[in-house]
Amino acid sequence: MRVLVTGAAGFLGSHLCDRLLKEGHDVIGLDNLITGNIRNIEHLSGNSRFQFIKHDVTEYIFLSGPLDALLHFASPASPIDYLELPIQTLKVGAIGTHKTLGLAREKGARFLIASSSEVYGDPLVHPQQEDYWGNVNPIGPRGVYDEAKRFGEAMTMAYHRSHGVDTKIVRIFNTYGPRMRARDGRVVPAFITQALTGKPLTIFGDGKQTRSFCFVADLIEGIYRLLLSDLNEPCNIGNPHEMTIGQFAETVLKLTGSKSEITYEALPTDDPQVRQPDITRAKERLGWEPKVPLEEGLTHAIRYFQEAGF
Ligand code: UDP
Repeated sequence: MRVLVTGAAGFLGSHLCDRLLKEGHDVIGLDNLITGNIRNIEHLSGNSRFQFIKHDVTEYIFLSGPLDALLHFASPASPIDYLELPIQTLKVGAIGTHKTLGLAREKGARFLIASSSEVYGDPLVHPQQEDYWGNVNPIGPRGVYDEAKRFGEAMTMAYHRSHGVDTKIVRIFNTYGPRMRARDGRVVPAFITQALTGKPLTIFGDGKQTRSFCFVADLIEGIYRLLLSDLNEPCNIGNPHEMTIGQFAETVLKLTGSKSEITYEALPTDDPQVRQPDITRAKERLGWEPKVPLEEGLTHAIRYFQEAGF
């Protein structure tokens, strides 16, 4: 296939490019580099099957030649990024999704959008199944991301229903691994870098809120299977292993051997209290489930941050 990936220099986009190239596909990567980092794809620069174009996908995308698949992964993705870039976040989820869907339609390409567990907001149903409609504050500071993803999903389904585009929607739950930015503010790089430098681990709130962390290799496998599947409804991809943020802090301290203290800071507005994917659909329709246990994946991530420096 000839495949276009938006957000190609980001954490997930760059891993996707690697996987697609490994499967023998030709890949065009797009990124405007506002939160992506060219270092994530510099190892692909000599690869004749890979092409990088610096482009903002909220602008018209001109691409010559055929296209078989388009994966729309461009977006600021950590709470501090989308709080700093609220309008870009809304634009890439709304206008960027429209532009990429238009390109997929024109080329007859299948389309996969990176959606998020954030479409469920602060969920009142637990664990979250795909048929749960969510509990989102549209005007809160997180709303710029949540509503962008919700609009992106709506637009994707409209192109599927009205124009017959073969669309896929992946709802990504908290994912971690190499190539996350050390300072992107998310809990995994925050706690690991704090632990490695002997600084206090900053738990927001009382640490009783839960998350379920998925290693990036598992997530990419699920996304690749979804891309090749005949599923058009949204599909959760994540690891159902749920824990509190307090337990997660203890795990990071144990694996790094750090003597860092724990401090408590204010909980961000609209921070979801619980989050855990129900992955029945992914299991039944894609034959997928995560394989990498948390401690093994975290060991890879810790080594990455040690080697990358920060
Ligand atoms: N969190 C924390 N300390 C940090 C960063 C995050 O306690 O330094 C908490 C955050 O409030 C949330 C959870 O960890 O409850 C996961 O946050 P993250 O930003 O990684 O992603 P989210 O799941 O909120 O999108």
